[in-house]
Amino acid sequence: EEVVSVNFIEAIINKDNETGKYGGRVLTRFPPEPNGYLHIGHAKSICLNFGIGKQYNGLTNLRFDDTNPAKEDVEYVNSIMEDVKWLGFDWADEPRYASDYFGQMYEYAKKLITLGKAYVDDQTADEIKQTRGDFSTPGVNSPYRDRSVEENLKLFEEMKDGQYADGEKVLRAKIDMGYPNIVMRDPVLYRIVNAEHHNTGNEWKIYPMYDFAHPIEDAIERVTHSICTLEFEVHRPLYDWVLEDWDDTEIPQQIEFARLNVTKMVMSKRKLRALVEAGLVAGWDDPRMPTISGLRRRGYTPEAIRDFCDRIGVAKADSVVDIALLEFCIREDLKLKATRPMVVIDPVKVVITNYPEGQAELCTVENNPENEELGNREVVFGREIYIERNDFMEEPVKKFFRLAPGKEVRLKGAYFITCTDVIKDENGNITEIHCTYDPETKSGSGCTRKVKGTLHWVEASTAVDIESRLYDYLLKEDSDGKDFLGDFNHESLQVFHSKGEACLANTVPGDHFQFLRQGYFVTDKDSTPNHIVMNRIVGLRDSWAK
Ligand code: ATP
Ligand code: MG
Ligand code: MG
Repeated sequence: EEVVSVNFIEAIINKDNETGKYGGRVLTRFPPEPNGYLHIGHAKSICLNFGIGKQYNGLTNLRFDDTNPAKEDVEYVNSIMEDVKWLGFDWADEPRYASDYFGQMYEYAKKLITLGKAYVDDQTADEIKQTRGDFSTPGVNSPYRDRSVEENLKLFEEMKDGQYADGEKVLRAKIDMGYPNIVMRDPVLYRIVNAEHHNTGNEWKIYPMYDFAHPIEDAIERVTHSICTLEFEVHRPLYDWVLEDWDDTEIPQQIEFARLNVTKMVMSKRKLRALVEAGLVAGWDDPRMPTISGLRRRGYTPEAIRDFCDRIGVAKADSVVDIALLEFCIREDLKLKATRPMVVIDPVKVVITNYPEGQAELCTVENNPENEELGNREVVFGREIYIERNDFMEEPVKKFFRLAPGKEVRLKGAYFITCTDVIKDENGNITEIHCTYDPETKSGSGCTRKVKGTLHWVEASTAVDIESRLYDYLLKEDSDGKDFLGDFNHESLQVFHSKGEACLANTVPGDHFQFLRQGYFVTDKDSTPNHIVMNRIVGLRDSWAK
C-alpha cells in the first residue's frame, strides 16, 4: 500500500472535509498588496494557495489587498496578474479588490458599535501605543472607552464624512486591555487617512486596518482556508473575534505557514523597491532581482519555480532555504530540454596554419548528448576559430589540460590541434594563437589516439556576436542582508563580447540554451537580431547536495 504523506495544511482540510465543516467546499485566495512586484516568497504562497485549490477541486481567488491608499498602483496590479498567469495559475472569475468591500466593512463596523463591541477613541497614536502595555504589564483603558453607542455611531459617521484630520480619532475594538495577547488589547479597526485611493478616489476618508479588513474580505468571498504567513499567528484570535458576528453559517479559518527565505536573496518589497529607486538595478525585472519578473528575465521557467516550491514544502517553523536548491531546479528543468550550442564567452582567435585558406567543412555535433531526441546539427569548421581566453595558458600550471605551447587538445566535434606559436601586441596581450591540426583526428573518424582536454570553439567567419551578461548574487558574499544597500555587490553584472555558433543568429527573447562548458543561458528581452543579448541563468556546476 502506498504511503501518502500529508502536510499540516492538507491534514486540516482533509479533516474539515470529513466533518463537513464547509460542505466539502475549498476556496483559497492569494491576497497581494499592489505596492510592488511579486518575489519568490510570493511564488511560494501562489503555489500553495492555487495548488490547494486545484488539489481539492476547489477554487482560488486573486484578491488585491488594496486597503492602503497612496502606496498602491495599477502598474503593480498588472504585473501581479502577469506573474500569477506566468506561473501557470488561474483565478476564479475576475480578480477581486478589497477596496470594493469598503462599504460592507463600514456597515459591519457600525454593527460592532451597535453591539457595544467597538468605540471611537480620541487618543493619539502614541497614547494608544503607550497604554496598550507589554508582555508583563496589562494595558490601561482609554478614557473614551465607555462612550454610548449613539455617540460612537455619530462620531464614526463624522470620521467617514471627513470632519476630522488624520490621527484625530480612530475606531477601536472593545475587547480587553488586560488580555495576555497584546494584539487583543482594543486594537484599532479604522483610521482617518485623507489621501486618494487608486480605486475609490476620494470617496473614503477612513480606511480599515489589515486585522479588521482581512477576515471580512475572506468572509465576503466565502473563503474556507485563509493561508497566511507565520507572523499572523498571534493575530488569529483577532481574526476569529472580528468574524464572531458575521452572518454566515461558514466562517473562514486562518492557517499560518512559515515564510520562505532564501540565502543570498533580499525578500521584501520595501527593500527591493529601495534597490530600484537607488538605481542599483535596472528595474524590478533586473535579472539579479528575486522578483518573479526578474527570475523570468534571468531565464527561470515556471516549471523550475513550481518544482522549487514543491521541494521546500510547507513548514510551521521559519527557516532559510539555500539558493543552490533553486539553481538545482532550473538545471533539472533545462537539462534535457535545452540544446547545447558552443559559445565562446571571452574569445581569443586561433589560426590553424596548416588548414587550407578559403576552405571550410561541416562537423556533426549532438544537440544534447543527454537527449537523443533533440538530434544533431552541423557546425562550420575552418582555418580561423575562437576559443576561450582562459582555455589557454602560456605557462601552464600543473594539471592544466587545456591549450598551451606544444600541447595538444581536442576541439569538440572537430580535430585535435597543437599550439605552435603565440602572437602578442605591444602590451604583451595575446592577440592570436597559432596551431596546427591533425587531419587524422576528425571526430567520428575512428581515431583512437587520446588527449586530455576538450575545448569548445566557434568558427570565426560565421560566428555571431553576442553580448553575454554574467551575474553574481546581488549582495556581497558575507552580507547578512541588513544593510542591503551598503552590501550591494557592484560586481554582480559582468558583460562580455562573445562569439556564438551561427545557429544562434535567429534566437528570440526567452530561448533557453546550455552553452557547452559554460552554463545555462537565456536570450534577454533586450535582444534583437542585430544585437543579441544573453543572460547566464546559472553555471553548470551543481553545488546542491541532494
Ligand atoms: P513583503 O514583506 O515582501 O512586502 P508582504 O507579505 O507584505 O511581503 P503581500 O503583498 O501582503 O506582501 O503578500 C501577499 C501574500 O504573499 C501574503 O499572503 C503573504 O503572506 C505572502 N508572502 C509574502 N512574502 C512571503 C514569503 N517570503 N513566503 C511566503 N509567503 C509570502
Ligand atoms: Mg502584507
Ligand atoms: Mg509588506
